[in-house]
Order: sequence, then structure tokens, then C-alpha cells
Amino acid sequence: MKLEIDQKRLLSELETLATISDAEAPAVTRIVFTPADLKARAWIIAHCEEAGLAVRQDAVGNIFARWKGADPAAPAVGTGSHIDAIPNAGKYDGVVGVLGGLEAIRALQRGGFRPKNSVELLVFATEEPTRFGIGCLGSRLLSGTLSAVAAAKLKDRDGESVDDVRRRAGFSGNLQDVKLPKGYYKAFVELHIEQGPLLERAQTSLGIVKSIAAPASLRILIEGAGGHAGGVLMADRKDALCAAAELILAVENAARSSGAVDTVATVGVCDVFPGAVNSIPSRVGMTLDIRDTALARRDGVMRVIERAAKDISAKRQVSIQSEVLNADAPTDCAPEVRVALVESCREHGFPFLEMVSRAYHDSLFMSRIVPAGMLFVPCRNGYSHRPDEYAAPEDIARGALVLAEALAKLST
Ligand SMILES: [Zn+2]
Repeated sequence: MKLEIDQKRLLSELETLATISDAEAPAVTRIVFTPADLKARAWIIAHCEEAGLAVRQDAVGNIFARWKGADPAAPAVGTGSHIDAIPNAGKYDGVVGVLGGLEAIRALQRGGFRPKNSVELLVFATEEPTRFGIGCLGSRLLSGTLSAVAAAKLKDRDGESVDDVRRRAGFSGNLQDVKLPKGYYKAFVELHIEQGPLLERAQTSLGIVKSIAAPASLRILIEGAGGHAGGVLMADRKDALCAAAELILAVENAARSSGAVDTVATVGVCDVFPGAVNSIPSRVGMTLDIRDTALARRDGVMRVIERAAKDISAKRQVSIQSEVLNADAPTDCAPEVRVALVESCREHGFPFLEMVSRAYHDSLFMSRIVPAGMLFVPCRNGYSHRPDEYAAPEDIARGALVLAEALAKLST
């Protein structure tokens, strides 16, 4: 079977989808369930139907477009990604995996391939956390990682719940029914831009993901005692910001000493109260984001930070409280999916890099219920989530080709 990707068509579809946006080109803004998002969905669905795929949508807005296999009762082989985009983003994040997945299916159809297992394109709803504060809402529900009850209660900035917003957008089904039945998929592969600089640095067009790192995020509140910056002598102080400074360095140190380059930790928010030049900080609110590819190592780093917090609290007589906001487990990609991707690359003589996904994706949650893997293509300077995000047409087409062949191997 000789497969050919219609690079010109794929690129023109990418450009067209980018125009369905709430930001001025080249920026793309497509927040879930806004008119732009609904228009983009309708556009995708029309293209899937044109390719002869049977389309359905679930109660949270995940789109499934199925190419029926010779054995329709067998578990399907899935591919796909997302089309929602954060404010002022680019046109490739997620979209490459959706339109690249669609083109991969069309290439298989043109090549005369007849899948045994159905091949299904998935467009995940609400991958970006922009509207409801949590990433990958669609795939969390599909995989049962998040309960329907918890999801329904999530609210957007205007205080509207997921339930209200989705119903108004026409998704009236029961959130309980979003979770996929056991054995629904045989395998899942997601094509995505790397969102980092490694492939470009290695001058390699393809990255086969070994594992997907996942974050734990915490909110930390430090309370000391305020006072006049002139009146309170140093020996009498319980300065919350000085405690925060020590804790931030302890966080950095804990991540650096984990023994693995894959451990990263960041304090990205530090709110100081009362925030006046002549007032001793009495309270500091911070956030902590720790990511790793190994759960045990990440938990180990968290314990080191907790011990440091206890020591700092005792030494400085301030209270330090932390609350875990979210802690998803990292995952290793499935060997069978990696093998299918590696073999596809080798058959063409395409060089590839085996790598870690530093950002998390819907595949992280899909991996809880199905053998899942990811294929990366480079993006210029590693830039993503910004208007100058760019992936070269040849790289996207090569990714779609390798994806098509992997889908063929997995659905035979
Ligand atoms: Zn993405």
C-alpha cells in the first residue's frame, strides 16, 4: 500500500480553521462553546462527513468521527486532539492532530486500505483550561478520571457551570454517559506539535513520545505578623515574605536534587499582603507546580518540600499551609503504539527522536483506559501558545504519513 498525504489540502484546511477565531490573524482564540468554537466544530464535522465518517458528539462536546472497519464490533483505533485555543494562541496546537488525523484517514482511504478495526477521529472538548480552570475536561470524563458530578459543578469566570454552558450550546445529554465503556478502543495515537525546542535542535522531523509528564499543583498560604517597617526590630519579626523566599529556594533545590532532569518545579505566583513599602509582609499566597515523568519521584520531591516548609515554619514562627489543587499521575506511552510508530518511521527511513512530553495532553488521560501514544512534529523555536507558533508543512505532512501507517498497523 502506497500512502500519500495531500499536503496542500491539509495546509489549506489548517489556514481556514485558523480564520474561525475571536482574535485577529495570525493569533487564534477559540474558547470552548463560544460561537467561534461552535462554528469550528461544525466546519470539522462537515469535513469528516465529506470523508464518509459517521459523526457523533457526546454530552460534553467530544466529537467522534468513525471510519467503519471490516469488523465493526471490534474495539476501534483512535486518533485525534483538540481545536480549542487559549487567548492569543497559534494555529497548530491541537489542530495538527485533528486535521492531520483526518488527512491520515483520507490517505488510507485513497490508498485502498480496508481496516479491520474501525478507525476513529476524536476531537476532544475543552483541552485548554481557559474557561473552566481545568485542562483536558473532555478526556478526563471519557476516561473516568473526573466524575460527571464534579465536572458539572465546574464554573467559568462568569459563574456559569459546565452544565449550563454546554446545554446552551446544544449538548443536552447526560454527563454520566460520557465515560467510554471498557474495551471501546484498542489503541489511541495523538499527533501534536512538540511545544518545545528539542526536535528542532536535533534537526529531526519526528518525535516518538516515551512518557508524558504530569503536574501536581498546590496553593500555599504563609501567615506571619505584620507591623511597621521602622518600628519592629529584626529579632521580633515574623516576616511572611522572608519565609516565602526560603521556601521558594527550597523548592528549586528539591527539584534540582531529584536526580533526574525530568523533575521541574515552579513557584509562579507570589501575592504579598499588604504590599506596602513600609509594612512588614504578614501574609503570602503562592502557587507551586511540580512536574515529573515518574510519580514516585515527584511524590518524593513533594515530601522534601513539605519537610522544608515545616522547618521554615518552626524557625520563623510563621504558619505554612498547603492545599493540593490537582495531582495527575504521569504515564508511560504504550509499547504497542510506540512500536507501530517506530516501524512506520523505519520503513520510510525517517529519523526520529524518542522523547518525553513535557506538557500534558488528552493522551495522558486516554492512557488510563487504552494503550496510548503520541507523535510529535517540531515547532519553530519551541514556541507554542502564542501567535507566532509555527510548524513546517513538510513536517506536518510527514507526521500525518507516519500516523496513517501506524493507524493501519494498529487496525489490521
Ligand atoms: Zn495541545
